[in-house]
Amino acid sequence: MSDVISLTAAQLGAAIRDGQVSSEEATTAYLDRIEAVDGEINAFLHVRRETALEQARAVDARRAAGEALGPLAGVPVAHKDVFSTRDMPTTAASRILEGWQPPYDATVTARLREAGLVILGKTNMDEFAMGSSTENSAYQVTRNPWDTDRIPGGSSGGSSAAVAAFEAPLATGTDTGGSIRQPAAVCGLVGAKPTYGGSSRYGIIAFASSLDTPGPFARNVLDAALLHEAFSGHDPRDSTSIDAPVPPVVDAARLGDIDGLRVGVVRELDSDGFQAGVRQRFHETLELLESLGAKIVELSCPSFDAALSAYYLIAPSECSSNLARFDAMRYGLRVGDDGTRSAEEVMSLTRAQGFGPEVKRRIMLGTYALSSGYYDAYYGSAQQVRTLIKRDFDAAFESVDVLVSPTTPTTAFPIGERAEDPMAMYLADLCTIPSNLAGNASLSVPCGLAPEDGLPVGFQIMAPALADDRTYRVAAAVERALSERDGDLLARSPYAVNA
Ligand code: GLN
Repeated sequence: MSDVISLTAAQLGAAIRDGQVSSEEATTAYLDRIEAVDGEINAFLHVRRETALEQARAVDARRAAGEALGPLAGVPVAHKDVFSTRDMPTTAASRILEGWQPPYDATVTARLREAGLVILGKTNMDEFAMGSSTENSAYQVTRNPWDTDRIPGGSSGGSSAAVAAFEAPLATGTDTGGSIRQPAAVCGLVGAKPTYGGSSRYGIIAFASSLDTPGPFARNVLDAALLHEAFSGHDPRDSTSIDAPVPPVVDAARLGDIDGLRVGVVRELDSDGFQAGVRQRFHETLELLESLGAKIVELSCPSFDAALSAYYLIAPSECSSNLARFDAMRYGLRVGDDGTRSAEEVMSLTRAQGFGPEVKRRIMLGTYALSSGYYDAYYGSAQQVRTLIKRDFDAAFESVDVLVSPTTPTTAFPIGERAEDPMAMYLADLCTIPSNLAGNASLSVPCGLAPEDGLPVGFQIMAPALADDRTYRVAAAVERALSERDGDLLARSPYAVNA
């Protein structure tokens, strides 16, 4: 069984197509793996063995009937609990949605099913995707497989931990300010934030609608590209979906050639304050890219210094409006409805009990920033900063093909270290937020282990909107060169399952 688990998703898909292994066998192997290790990792909120096995048998039946299968048909996937699933609970890791099962599938969920992917279960996350450590889940603390005393990143930390612990070959996430790239970086995985509008938001529990972007997690670049391709593309049910073909991410991941590519290093995202080992691995990777024929230039994006502040006005503002729908009437939890209280009192009691402290903090911040008299000073200026950031990107992309930075200022931090200090937590997204504000494509690929703590470091690649393929091309080059030099990085994780 461990040989099935050590296969890449691409290899597993091919083995299923060739009849060397059935999807039922592969799914069983992963379900057994979850049973064996998830008590230590806590990556999953819900696992439904029978539901997963039914999907697997359906793929096996399609193959037996002679149907041509896609590249990931029969391959298991872990699905972030923010995506609606009609056959499993969807809670966004909040008490307010405990036990809620949506009557429909998110577009991403539906596309996973159409591609024949087998949904193993739903993964833990920061409540409503607000956080960088998954400690804000109302249900459990997820552990980083590289060091179980440390955070797996967030908000998609259940997804990153599941893939890094070999409980799934692939996982989905959503990235509003870094929630795919940051957990990917600290767990030694590939994680991509597609171009905003390149992957559908329909059926995702909304956090900040102008920023939310679903994307893939995988153990390698090609697998991430295959999953990206499987669920992305135009969706008429999402009003901000882009009606354009999915960029050729799979071809780019296979190619990985970067000769002559112009790579810009953003000065504002390579600070002295970052962990020394993170900077060391980042700069070594730049040298590697140069040796492969890339042209490295340093440049400045001055408005990026204000990105974090702008994000922490825009995202809470949008969340305060989006989370108004949790009114104790339509979904989930209802507290104090004993016939003596008004609807308003019930709503207030429910929201007081149903939301965790970080969610409340964001709702209050956002409501304040949007309130009359303060709107221009806060929300209005944040939107202006957003425009400036977009202009910085546009100017930079006139002279370079991609921009790069470390994905995170530090490696995975200890559980509890930043839980009481929101500002310290927010800083984890310093490098990832600019791409969300501009809506462009961005990806994190592992670039080694930091010498001081032996934990994974992520290398971030940013490209213009709809040029997602460029991020995969560079990532494939980094992955290839590093594996030639150092061997398989993930194989060194304590939870690795090696062939
Ligand atoms: N950590 C950031 C936040 O707390 C980003 C979260 C995300 O991308 N969903 O808002």
